Amino acid sequence: MTQEKWGQLRSKLLKAIGRNNFTTWIEPLEFQELQDGVAVFSVPTNFMGNYVSQNFADLILYELNTSGESVQRLAFRVAANSPARPVAAPVAEPALAAVSETVAPVQPEASYPSDTASDALESLQAAPLDARFTFESFVVGKPNELAHAAARRVSEGGPVTFNPLVLYGGVGLGKTHLMHAIAWELKTKRPELNVLYLSAEQFMYRFVQALRERRMMDFKHLFRSVDVLMVDDVQFIAGKDSTQEEFFHTFNALVDQNKQIIISADRAPGEIKDLEDRVKSRLQCGLVVDLHPTDYELRLGILQNKVQQYSSTYPDLTIADGVLEFLAHRISTNVRVLEGALTRLFAFASLVGREIDMELTQDCLADVLRASERKITVEEIQRKVSDYYNIRLSDIIGPKRLRSYARPRQVAMYLCKQLTSRSLPEIGRRFGGRDHTTVMHGVKRIEELKLTDGQIAEDVEMLRRSLEA
Ligand code: ADP
Ligand code: MG
Repeated sequence: MTQEKWGQLRSKLLKAIGRNNFTTWIEPLEFQELQDGVAVFSVPTNFMGNYVSQNFADLILYELNTSGESVQRLAFRVAANSPARPVAAPVAEPALAAVSETVAPVQPEASYPSDTASDALESLQAAPLDARFTFESFVVGKPNELAHAAARRVSEGGPVTFNPLVLYGGVGLGKTHLMHAIAWELKTKRPELNVLYLSAEQFMYRFVQALRERRMMDFKHLFRSVDVLMVDDVQFIAGKDSTQEEFFHTFNALVDQNKQIIISADRAPGEIKDLEDRVKSRLQCGLVVDLHPTDYELRLGILQNKVQQYSSTYPDLTIADGVLEFLAHRISTNVRVLEGALTRLFAFASLVGREIDMELTQDCLADVLRASERKITVEEIQRKVSDYYNIRLSDIIGPKRLRSYARPRQVAMYLCKQLTSRSLPEIGRRFGGRDHTTVMHGVKRIEELKLTDGQIAEDVEMLRRSLEA
């Protein structure tokens, strides 16, 4: 048989088994020789050879024989220097790892599945993408601009420049949102790519299921045939040893093939307890960016954005000035909580048919506001200020009168007056037992300087923001 003949046969196979199966299983086969009734193909991996042999062999044999060739058997060899390295089998399957060349027997009764690979991939997509989580609906601010930029970059689907991309940050800061946004973007820009998004929990679930049903080969192949793999909340697999192991192998196999991996976690990889060191170091190999807690501006931006979205659902509702600012100020850094509050507010206002004003807000959200009421303490202010000016905490509180200590001390006193409900004497006591007149003087001084000294004004503003974030 000639290469040309094989080429013609391939188009028949394409018709018979569908585009997805064809691309996944037949396209990578290279016809090598036909000898003594055995047609030999080279394949990128053992797994692939086995799979094709079990699922498509009789069809291929049929096509070969009806086209005039006399073939009794198919054989598959793993190409020595194929671009995709042979599947790295974990310890669970030593037999496979030991075999470098497989001549897989044909099983005549095996029937080929309709579209197994893509079906299975589809069923893996157990967590459907949330239609609301797009780049358009993602509000960018200082705390998330780096994560957003990195997400944008990988969503272009260009050459893989950093692998993996690790997004980490606290609860409700937009990790899942960004991952879905990447997936949506890739779906439109690069529809030919196999993009798989799932949570680490689902990864584990699939893994355990595959073990139980003795379908590890399918599992491995599926995960190794994706182009972009996204695993959300990877901290979940910490302490789950065999899942970590499998994750590690999947990870390596994909990185070897230069496939993009995107991971999220609730903290920096190095700080995830019970995550194997080798997994940690793999994660740290790529680009690790964190989503910082939201600040006031970002919260306000998100609220304004949400209000715009709501305006189509609730065209009659109006919102009084200052309400959004109040919410951005008072509700915690978790965007989910912020959104929940706004949703409740709109629902409530539309029920009672009133404008959303301060009073309604206070009534409707009393519990949320109480829960997220965060009291800034004098100690916190002292610590922040000493960090900011790079001096010791003891120097802020202590007796030294040097200008380089006195000014930060006054800034700290000013902030205590502004941001806490402490009285001047109370503040004085916490600054090394100073008199309340000293505190008053300090506060006045900063008030004056804010008007004349741009640097001081900026320092105070920065500190206030970071304390209120
Ligand atoms: P995480 O996965 O980090 O816990 P999510 O991505 O689930 O957080 O975000 C929680 C909610 O907050 C979602 O509804 C999401 O749309 C919203 N959200 C978070 N950050 C932003 C943002 N920057 N702009 C718009 N919505 C956001
Ligand atoms: Mg999440």
